[in-house]
Amino acid sequence: MLEKIIKSQKEYFLYNHTKSYSFRLNQLKKLQRLILENEDKISAALYEDLHKSKFESYSTEIGYCLHSLTYAIKHLKRWMKPKRVNTPIYILNSKSFIIPEPLGTVLIIGPYNYPFQLVIEPLIGAIAAGNTVIMKPSEMCTNTERVLAELINTNFDSNYLQVVTGDYLVTQELLRFSFDHIFFTGSSRVGQIVYEAASKHMTPVTLELGGKSPTIVDETADLVKAARRIAFGKFLNAGQTCIAPDYVYVHESVYDQFLNELNLITNNLYNHFDDFSHVVNERHFQRLVKLIDKEKVTNKHITEADKKFISPTIMKDVTWEDSVMKEEIFGPILPVLSYSDINDLIPFLKTKELKTKEKPLALYLFSKNKVLQKRVISEMSFGGGAINDTLMHISNHHLPFGGVGNSGFGAYHGKHSFYLFSHQKGYTSRSFLIDPPIAYPPYTKAKETLIRKIMK
Ligand code: NAD
Repeated sequence: MLEKIIKSQKEYFLYNHTKSYSFRLNQLKKLQRLILENEDKISAALYEDLHKSKFESYSTEIGYCLHSLTYAIKHLKRWMKPKRVNTPIYILNSKSFIIPEPLGTVLIIGPYNYPFQLVIEPLIGAIAAGNTVIMKPSEMCTNTERVLAELINTNFDSNYLQVVTGDYLVTQELLRFSFDHIFFTGSSRVGQIVYEAASKHMTPVTLELGGKSPTIVDETADLVKAARRIAFGKFLNAGQTCIAPDYVYVHESVYDQFLNELNLITNNLYNHFDDFSHVVNERHFQRLVKLIDKEKVTNKHITEADKKFISPTIMKDVTWEDSVMKEEIFGPILPVLSYSDINDLIPFLKTKELKTKEKPLALYLFSKNKVLQKRVISEMSFGGGAINDTLMHISNHHLPFGGVGNSGFGAYHGKHSFYLFSHQKGYTSRSFLIDPPIAYPPYTKAKETLIRKIMK
C-alpha cells in the first residue's frame, strides 16, 4: 500500500499538478479552513493524549499553525518569484536568476510532544514550496494521530497529501523508500536511524533533534522576572518541549535568592493542575520519576501514577553526577546548579567530553550585563535562544528555527520553511546577439592576457 501511495504521489508531482501559485495558495487556504472547522476535535485529542489545556492547545499548536498559514498565504507569491541577480561582466549578454523549485515527494516524521504542530508546521512549508507530502505522526498520541489522518486523508487526494499511521515499524517501512526530502523531528537516537536510512537513497534530510538546553542566570539579572520566565518555559506542556530550559546555572551570590523566587513563582503559577499537561505514557512517567532525587527537591512535589502526572519539581544543589543531568529531561523537573565564575562556566558548557552538553538546541541567558550578553551570543554555539527570556524565539517566524551539531541540522519557520522544501535553481539566460571568440579555443596568448585582466 505504501509503495502505491508513494508512486502515485511521485507521478502527481511529475505531471506538475502541485506547482502553480494558484494550486499552492488554494491548498494552504483549504488547510487553514479545515483546521478552523476542526479546532474542537484537535483540542479534544490533545487533551486526551497529553491532558493539554485548551489554552496551550491553541497557543502552541492550533493557533500557532493558523498564524503560520496566514503568513504563508500572504507571502507565497513573493517567495515563489524568480529573483534576478547580478551577472559578472565576463558572462556576456546574459541575465541571471534564482528560481525556487519544489523538491518532489517529501516525508515528514513527527514526535509526540506537540503532535499536531510538529506535523502541520513543516507541512505548510512543503505545500507552499509545491511538494507532495507523506506524513507520519507520532503513534504515542493516538488521538491526535487519528484526527490528523481524518483531517488530511478525507479532505485531500492521497496523490497529493497522505497521513500514514502506525508504530515505529511503519516508519521503518516508509524509510525503505526513496523520497526527495525527509523532515524528521524527534530524538537523536531515532534521528540517526533516519539519517542512515536516507543515506541509502542519498535523500537530503532535516533533523530537528533535542538535547539539554542550558539557562544561565547571573548576579545582575532581575531574579523575579527571570524565575517567572524560566518556570513558564520549563513547565509548559509539563516540560515536554524540545527547547525548554533543561537546567539552570545560577551565580552563587544570588543562588538562594533565585531559588526562593523560583519556588514562590512556581507555586503561584501552578496552584492548581487543571491546566497542567501530563506525561505522555507510563514509560516516560517511570523514567522521569527515577530522575528525581527527593532529598534535593525544594518545593511541594506530587506524582499520580494513574494519571501520569508529575507536578512542577525543582531540584537544588544538583551536579553532573546526578541522574537528572545524564540525559535530556523532557519533563517537569528543573535542576538548579550554581557557578562561581562565568569565565569557567562558559568553557565548561562548551567542552565536548559530554555529548549532552554539545551544541544545544537552545540557550537562555538572564543578565543585564551587555558585555556578557554579547559574549554568550558570539562564543557559544546553539540552535537558537533568547536573552532574558525563554522559548520566544520559536514563535517569531522571521527567525529560522533548527539545531546545530548534536541538536540537528536544517531550519524552518516562515520563509525558511519555504526555502527548506525548495531547491534554489540558479540559471543564466543569454541573447544570441554577440559571441566573441575569447573563451573558445584556440587559446592564444592575447586571449590569455585579456582573460587575466578580467578575471582577478
Ligand atoms: P522519537 O525519536 O522517539 O520519535 C519520533 C518519531 O520517530 C515518531 O514518529 C516515531 O514513530 C518514530 N520512531 C520511533 N522509533 C523509531 C525507530 N526505531 N525507527 C524508526 N522510527 C522511529 O521522539 P519523541 O519521543 O516522539 O520526541 C521527543 C524527542 O524529540 C526529544 O528528544 C525532543 O527534544 C525532540 N524534539 C525536537 C524538536 C525540535 O524541533 N528540534 C521538537 C520536538 C521534539
